[in-house]
Amino acid sequence: MIKLDKVSKVYNINKPNEFAALKNISFELPDNGMIFITGKSGSGKTTLLNLLGGLDSPTSGELCLDDKKIDLKKRKFADEYRRNYTGFVFQDFNLIEYETVFENVNIAARLLDKNADDVTDALKQVGLDKFAHSLAGNLSGGQKQRVAIARALIKYPKIILADEPVASLDPITAKQVMQDFVRINKEYKISILLNIHHVDLALKYCDRVIGIR
Ligand code: ADP
Ligand code: MG
Repeated sequence: MIKLDKVSKVYNINKPNEFAALKNISFELPDNGMIFITGKSGSGKTTLLNLLGGLDSPTSGELCLDDKKIDLKKRKFADEYRRNYTGFVFQDFNLIEYETVFENVNIAARLLDKNADDVTDALKQVGLDKFAHSLAGNLSGGQKQRVAIARALIKYPKIILADEPVASLDPITAKQVMQDFVRINKEYKISILLNIHHVDLALKYCDRVIGIR
């Protein structure tokens, strides 16, 4: 389980544009659940998610996984953490638009020594196996986000971190994507931690909300 102890993140340290994006944040994540981070634009949600995903290090304080410091300078531990423990989903999907749906998920599968059947299984989980040979660029926003979820899911990580995953979607599609997350959480006991600025949507689906100011 992940714990943050007095975590701060300062950008551009000792420069005229120095900026403290997070100050002294401490909390403990539950072992499993739908956990939402809410807060206004600029409050530090993306910064926090990047720290949780091992994409960036705090300026001070510690993040720990099961009481072990998440130290990105320890390459083996950092690689293991990013590769097996966490999966990432982004607001703008980050798909390769000129590749097929299958290939977009297969790129992640190859890094993990998974095969074509694993890719198809992950696509089934998000209801997109029939679109495997469509070009990612031709899909709707909701379908693209589902491909991105399948790409994160193929790792079967402990936690999927999603940065505003429904912000670019219409309300109905946003709801469907949230229901995908709920199903993945229940079925595989994968925690879902997502940044969201719609408080209503957050309260509807969350087990826990962490608000940042
Ligand atoms: P949110 O996701 O809640 O909108 P962010 O974590 O993206 O917030 O940003 C928090 C604050 O940190 C913002 O004021 C933003 O301008 C600043 N910030 C984010 N990333 C950087 C960076 N790489 N360099 C400098 N400032 C940054
Ligand atoms: Mg953000």
